[in-house]
Order: sequence, then C-alpha cells, then structure tokens
Amino acid sequence: MDDLLKRLSRFEKRFFPRYRDEYRRLVAEGQNPRMLFIGCSDSRIVPYLLTGSGPGDLFVVRNVGSLVPPWGESQIECGTAAAVEFAVAKLKVRDIVICGHSHCGAIQALYEEANPDLPNLARWLEFARDATLPVTVSEEALRRTEQRSVVLQLERLLTYPMVARAVEKGELFLHGWHYIIEEGRILVLNVERGVFEPTDMAMSLQQPSTNYELCQLQ
Ligand SMILES: [Zn+2]
Repeated sequence: MDDLLKRLSRFEKRFFPRYRDEYRRLVAEGQNPRMLFIGCSDSRIVPYLLTGSGPGDLFVVRNVGSLVPPWGESQIECGTAAAVEFAVAKLKVRDIVICGHSHCGAIQALYEEANPDLPNLARWLEFARDATLPVTVSEEALRRTEQRSVVLQLERLLTYPMVARAVEKGELFLHGWHYIIEEGRILVLNVERGVFEPTDMAMSLQQPSTNYELCQLQ
C-alpha cells in the first residue's frame, strides 16, 4: 500500500504539473473525446499506449471480454449499455472501437466448464457465446473466436438505435481491432473483405458501414 501511495504522490508532484493547463482546459470546456474505446479488463491492455492518447482523448469502457449486451430498456447488465448511450447520444463520439485481444481469458472460458461459484461471470460470457466454433479448442481456434467475438459485438452495437442512426448518417464509425499482445500488433477488421489485417494493409479507418455480420467473417 505504501508503494501505491508513493505512486499517487508521484502523479500529484511530477505528472500533474506537466499537464496542469491541459487538465484545467478540459475542466473549463468539458470533455470532448473523439473515441469510445470498448476493451477487455485484461491488465495487459493499455488503451492510451495503443492509441497514443492522453487526458480527454478516450471515453473508455472496460469489461470482461470487451462485450456489448444487446440494447434494451430492461437490460440487467446495463453498465456497458449506459456508457454506449452516453458516448454516442451526449458526447457524440466519432469512432467506437471494439478491441479484442490474444490470450483472452474470457474467450478461453467459453470452451471450459462454467464454475458454479461464479454465476455472474458465466451469465456475462454468454454475450460471446455465438462467437464459439464447434471445434476442439486450439490456439488457432481461440484466436479466431476472439476475432469472431469482436464482430459479434459490433453487430450488437448496431442494435442501439442511437448508434445505428449515427452510423447511417456517416457521423459515427465502428472499428474492430484484435490486439496480439506478444507481437505488439493490432489487426484491424476490414469489413469489405471479412478479415482482420495488419494496420499497414488496413484501408482508411473511416469507412462507413453497417455491414457487420459474423457470418461474413472468413
Ligand atoms: Zn480479455
């Protein structure tokens, strides 16, 4: 705990003074983030490092597996849904990223026996169930399932009326990323081709599309 307090003190004394003006501006003018980043809670995902962002740049939602429940007013798991509604309808973000990753424990758990002591986790993971493949689990199957889950969550985002409307108008762009932790690479979903491809091959990230369908992923 002492170490944690030292880190807080370091933020106050060393980091904050360097960004004082920026933080004050963000308070005076309010936040105006351009991107909603939906990522896994996994400690190895550092959204600010991946996207070269700083204070005020990202509206971040993190949950187990970077999952998006379907839109609905009686949704019990409403935390993520609330963040999507707020980011799109109030903050008017321009981009939403679903960032899956390699070695995702949430995806792996889909292929394992559910632990009866963790009923909330089991219920939450059902939002990725349709991404699983009827195959023996292997590293390759897990990577494919991680990518399929990203597409599934993008499909779900389009069940949010405010998301569908903004995408339709060309005011909002959805992106699927698959971060390969051990290689430091991000594979980007190319909706037209139905594949995840390296960033240097990826087409412009601003391709409007409502065409996110799991069945089209190769
Ligand atoms: Zn994960």
